[in-house]
Amino acid sequence: PTTPIKRALLSVSDKNGLIEFGQFLSDQGVEILSTGGSAKALADAGIVVTEVSSHTGFPEMMDGRVKTLHPKIHGGLLALRDNDTHVKAMTDHDIANIDLLVVNLYPFEETVEKGADFDTCIENIDIGGPAMIRSAAKNHKFVTVVVEARDYEAVKASMLENNGATSADLRRALAARAYARTGSYDAAISAWFAAQLGDSYPDRLNVTATRKQTLRYGENPHQNAAFYVSRSATPRPGIATARQIQGKELSYNNLNDTDAAFELVSEFDAASGPAVAIIKHANPCGVAQAATMKEAYNQALLCDQTSAFGGIIALNSTLDGATAEEISKIFTEVVIAPDADQKALEILAAKKNLRLLLTGGLADPRAVGQTIKSVAGGYLLQDRDNGKVTLDDLKVVTERQPTEQELKDLLFAFTVCKHVKSNAIIYVKDGATVGIGAGQMSRVDSARVAVRKAEDAKEAAGFPEVLTKGSVVASDAFFPFADGLIHAAEAGVTAVIQPGGSMRDDEVIAAANERGLAMVMTGMRHFRH
Ligand code: 5GP
Repeated sequence: PTTPIKRALLSVSDKNGLIEFGQFLSDQGVEILSTGGSAKALADAGIVVTEVSSHTGFPEMMDGRVKTLHPKIHGGLLALRDNDTHVKAMTDHDIANIDLLVVNLYPFEETVEKGADFDTCIENIDIGGPAMIRSAAKNHKFVTVVVEARDYEAVKASMLENNGATSADLRRALAARAYARTGSYDAAISAWFAAQLGDSYPDRLNVTATRKQTLRYGENPHQNAAFYVSRSATPRPGIATARQIQGKELSYNNLNDTDAAFELVSEFDAASGPAVAIIKHANPCGVAQAATMKEAYNQALLCDQTSAFGGIIALNSTLDGATAEEISKIFTEVVIAPDADQKALEILAAKKNLRLLLTGGLADPRAVGQTIKSVAGGYLLQDRDNGKVTLDDLKVVTERQPTEQELKDLLFAFTVCKHVKSNAIIYVKDGATVGIGAGQMSRVDSARVAVRKAEDAKEAAGFPEVLTKGSVVASDAFFPFADGLIHAAEAGVTAVIQPGGSMRDDEVIAAANERGLAMVMTGMRHFRH
């Protein structure tokens, strides 16, 4: 600890907790300097404050653009108290120490999110705030800096412990946080500016996010990890905002898989029927949409019961008691749903380790945004895959037209493809996946894997025949040769959906015609690596 805090400057836009903290400082005998709005709020609460303008002898001016940009403020924050020249300068120029700075910035990010016009956003760029924060943080050897209301408690506790001073450790931690805040503030401004210029891929990338959780470990136990969330005034339903109702802490792999599960199931809007996706290692091992949630779950499960063990389950609407009962029958890591009814909550409560997450709604598969991936020495940034093929996009290329049921299943299968690691081959029958081939290096191998899994499912469930018979098949990218399609035909499919666009499309179409298959092309590819 250094010397006790004698003078503090409080200048905040977010006035939450301001009065309480100001009162505490005042009770500790700290002199409080403050700017217009903050000073008024404090004075109204009966706390004695000195306006920064009377401290500097300079009025606030230019609509608040110039309030604290003054040598008496920055000198008071930056002076090294143990440096004779600095101390002499302070005496010569009548500069008083400022030992504690409490600043949170004009709400630039929130203003942008609200869709404010250009000039309003510009006016919400704080200038004096970041300048003071950076001054105070640089001089953390002597000065305590607070940029978020959540840190008031820590400062209070430290002052109470150290006779009105703060510990050096706390000052350093707060300084690190202070620069993180000014860094993210400027990053937000530059990203907004680039967007104003129509440039979503500016020549510099600044990504800002706040740590939500330190994870026990990463993908493997020897890797450290943490979960960061982006700052958003209007958060969307998803893994970053979901409320955990019960169960152990989510692990790195849980977070990754649960995200994949929820993004997939959100493709199926609740109005078109309850849907369930079961995920393992970020790939689905079963997806179904049916008349009831319980039925959807059971059909998803039957696709690959073996893999579903220890999986992640995502629902597109309320988890009900009947479904919760089914889910309880096997070991499941995580369940994520928009909501759960009372009965379901009671049933899952008996499964202490099962993590239940409620999101309050579905993700928007069409939302624009960007995804980021790291490569050695850099990052790859791209628009998120918000493509969604509908009936109108389909082009029938075969002699036979698909039936209505085939069309429904084809669209379902292609939608699932989008969420499966390439190469993806998906067999679907009556609104449920019956064979999923994921992540193989050749398309024909993915087709083989899917059929083999369907055969395993037949054995496991005691089906009379392999469910690929009479199913439809989707491919996430075009068939480069006819072999993948021929393999699917041999497995018993009646219809095919694929992007098309191969040099050998003619061969593939001919092979489909020879076998009496209906085939549609989407013109859109869904690679996912
Ligand atoms: P108040 O509500 O107290 O009038 O204003 C508080 C806000 O003003 C804080 O968000 C603080 O960061 C900001 N601020 C303090 N000094 C200056 C300055 O000199 N220029 C600008 N633009 N903002 C400042």
